[in-house]
Amino acid sequence: MSFTNPDVLVIGAGAAGISAARTLLAGGLSCVVLEAGPRLGGRAKTCLTLGAPFDHGATWLHDADTNPLTRFATDALDHDTVRERHFWMGDRWAMLEEIAAHARAEDAFFAAMDAAAALPDCPVASVVPQGGFWDATIRHWQGAQIQAREVELLSLHDQIENDLEGPNLLPRQGVGALLAGLAAALPIRLNAPVESLDWSGPGVVVRGGFGQLRARAAIVTVSTGVLAAEGIRFTPALPPRHAQAVHDLPMGLLTKFGFRCSERLGIGPFHGIRVRVTPENPRPASWIMWPFGADHLFGFVGGARAWALSAAGPAETEADLRAEFATIFGPGHLGQGLVTDWGENPHFLGSYSQARPGAAGARAVLAEPLGPLLFAGEATHRGLAGTIGGAWAEGERAATSLLDNPPAA
Ligand SMILES: Cc1cc2nc3c(=O)[nH]c(=O)nc-3n(C[C@H](O)[C@H](O)[C@H](O)COP(=O)(O)OP(=O)(O)OC[C@H]3O[C@@H](n4cnc5c(N)ncnc54)[C@H](O)[C@@H]3O)c2cc1C
Repeated sequence: MSFTNPDVLVIGAGAAGISAARTLLAGGLSCVVLEAGPRLGGRAKTCLTLGAPFDHGATWLHDADTNPLTRFATDALDHDTVRERHFWMGDRWAMLEEIAAHARAEDAFFAAMDAAAALPDCPVASVVPQGGFWDATIRHWQGAQIQAREVELLSLHDQIENDLEGPNLLPRQGVGALLAGLAAALPIRLNAPVESLDWSGPGVVVRGGFGQLRARAAIVTVSTGVLAAEGIRFTPALPPRHAQAVHDLPMGLLTKFGFRCSERLGIGPFHGIRVRVTPENPRPASWIMWPFGADHLFGFVGGARAWALSAAGPAETEADLRAEFATIFGPGHLGQGLVTDWGENPHFLGSYSQARPGAAGARAVLAEPLGPLLFAGEATHRGLAGTIGGAWAEGERAATSLLDNPPAA
């Protein structure tokens, strides 16, 4: 495919970039998508290394009733209908009454957030229960394990605005494969990192190893991690309002991993395992067994522990997780392992964005157009921030705004 100057340049071929390109083309504006990496999908990537589809990044379509990708996921299973949770207490499985107490403590966590919604923005940690039997476990789960940052680092208002309701769909083919299919035949140039973007006008000029391209406007979909690290040099520099918004939306880190395992270990398919947090075990991983009956399990480790393991490297991370699994099931069950690392990859530098306490308005600020320059991605969505559905919707939003107000030629 040859690439000439289009109406619009789209930077990044993740969910936001793919949906932006589809929307622009459908509306009659030409575009070229420049993608730094060698593949489509960004933080959605499916591989078959473990013998069945395994997503390195986005795994569920959350909030499926409002998720714009639900309509494409014709092979998806509603995970909530088959999931069962097991809690490891450190030396035994939790009993039914302990599991019921966990459910009550989880309800109390969300009730406390709702009760504090009218207060000025503050860290989630300062309003949710602590000290109860399950509180540290729920804080760890709702912070590091789900949001990829500890509850001390999360804006209460941002969390309330982006609270996800079920159902949670699991596409059988994998979210990465689903997304790659939606990018078929789009004008995407891979291995084309944008090094600089001049938006001094008229229009934009981008430069990189691929040369130089001009357009009437650009939609930039790279992560706030890439923006904060100045992975793209803007001329003129971003104004303070946008630079502050980037600073206020730092990336958390969620490391996903998988292991082959042909035994069933007395646990049903899709069942989840969480571990009770104790002073001796403050940051446990979580595990999901045998998706679609496959011979592998997958799991997550998030927040500060994920960053520490990312710095230590994949071999150490894998060894650490094998050892943790062995404390529950004993040694020798796990086969081939796979550990993702979104933290060190310069095209992402984290898993997804979270607003700092006091900065819940940052997503709306980053979404404000700067003449011919627009930002879109999971970080700019309000409602589904941090998710692939939010990223998709934002690509559409940015493209639609250019179709409604075509940039000057
Ligand atoms: C481990 C993990 C688990 C997750 N689980 C879920 C989940 O279950 N459900 C869910 O909804 N979401 C989940 N997410 C989040 C979801 O994957 C992201 O929110 C979403 O994919 C972000 O899409 P995006 O288009 O905004 O950004 P990206 O996917 O990051 O796309 C931006 C693209 O820009 C490219 N790029 C970077 N720099 C440059 C440059 N200089 N020039 C050109 N291109 C560049 C990147 O390579 C990338 O392809 C998860 C993420 C991770 C990491």
